Amino acid sequence: MTGSVDLEAHLAPYAARSAASRGRRYPEPAPSSRTDFQRDRDRIIHSTAFRRLEYKTQVFVNHEGDLFRTRLTHSIEVAQIARSIARNLRLNEDLVEAISLAHDLGHTPFGHAGQDALNACMRDYGGFEHNLQSLRVVDALEERYGAFDGLNLTFEAREGILKHCSLANAARLGDVGQRFIERKQPSLEAQLANLADEIAYNNHDIDDGLRSGLLSTEQIDQIDIYGRHRREVEAVYPGISGRRAIHETIRRMINTLIVDLIDTSRARIEEARPLSIDDVRNAGSLIRFSEKISSEAVVLKRFLRENLYQHYQVNRMTSKARRIVSELFAAFLQEPALLAPGYQVSNGDMQMQARRIADYIAGMTDRYAMREHKRLFEIDELT
Ligand code: MG
Repeated sequence: MTGSVDLEAHLAPYAARSAASRGRRYPEPAPSSRTDFQRDRDRIIHSTAFRRLEYKTQVFVNHEGDLFRTRLTHSIEVAQIARSIARNLRLNEDLVEAISLAHDLGHTPFGHAGQDALNACMRDYGGFEHNLQSLRVVDALEERYGAFDGLNLTFEAREGILKHCSLANAARLGDVGQRFIERKQPSLEAQLANLADEIAYNNHDIDDGLRSGLLSTEQIDQIDIYGRHRREVEAVYPGISGRRAIHETIRRMINTLIVDLIDTSRARIEEARPLSIDDVRNAGSLIRFSEKISSEAVVLKRFLRENLYQHYQVNRMTSKARRIVSELFAAFLQEPALLAPGYQVSNGDMQMQARRIADYIAGMTDRYAMREHKRLFEIDELT
């Protein structure tokens, strides 16, 4: 509620509402010209971690080409897709945008290779999970406000950022961990952001894969969901080829997935008839693709894994990335005095020291990590 105007009056009864939010960890007065979820979104956009996304790998390392997706453009695409679905289902667009923009804030440099390497390094110290780290960024690591660490986001934004976590971590996390223990659902906005992520990366990875030349159109034409949209394009524009054909195919695929998600979810919502966000939390997952699209997506994902994510040229970068992250971690753990004072733990608690090193490494952009590696390992590199 803002002044006398309810900026969320148009929402469905099952949508998340600022006025009914479970609140912030440090209570703050309601903003005067925007809703609490808009404030969350704005805080995320102004954060340091958000700007770092520009230089973090999605699949291709930033310096491999200017046109490939980065974590930043990926997050913006997720937000775009999630918002258009949210509007159709009368869900809270501001919340879904906040969750989408924040969902990858905890990603390490070098994408999944970096995360896997850091997780292996942290094996004896509680592990590393980018999803949990995204929550840690907004709860603790951002240093912007006088009154608290982190961004002090609403419960609903935090619950959406924490897509999944182990039961051990859930018990440690308190309020946002509770649903994993009770096996309950998060808001529909959180469920939606999660699937919008999938729509975004499946499609942009095809586009980037083709642009890089690691995938060929002949190969991808064999995959049902791509092939049938490609034939549709051919029927409308006979003889179309090259970038235009790819783009026309991918835009149709994205549209098919969005429409399918809206129709399937709407039917499930109508059947479950949730009258509040609490009903949503107690129901099964309501935001879903149809069976047909889900099984096509499984085939597409397998194709991308086998032909793109595990392509030998990607493996070379992955291998280098793993080495950089592991060597940085090992050097810092062995000699914490190499760290800037803010990352050194003075009481000799190795668990805490390892976690601070993981925070430092996870926060690095790709090129910062490469530079830091040179500074530590190349004798003629200035520190
Ligand atoms: Mg993502």
